[in-house]
Amino acid sequence: MTLFDASVFGSPFHPSPSDRTVVCPTCKKEFKPDSSEALPFCSERCRTIDLGRWLGEEHGLPSVPDPEADETPEGFGDDP
Ligand SMILES: [Zn+2]
Repeated sequence: MTLFDASVFGSPFHPSPSDRTVVCPTCKKEFKPDSSEALPFCSERCRTIDLGRWLGEEHGLPSVPDPEADETPEGFGDDP
């Protein structure tokens, strides 16, 4: 029994390599992977934008309860 029978899968990954385009996650523009230096984004700029947005969302999150950071040091606010 052949698990990896080519006839079952055909050529799923590269239907037409020369004409393949991808969509930039940031600006939704279609571009050819060959023409980009910042895959999967169309340009370095879009990669930076996406990264910034990611970090922004991270910081914008409401305070998530973190069991490991939820240790209030006892006697810390002990004003004389
Ligand atoms: Zn883009």
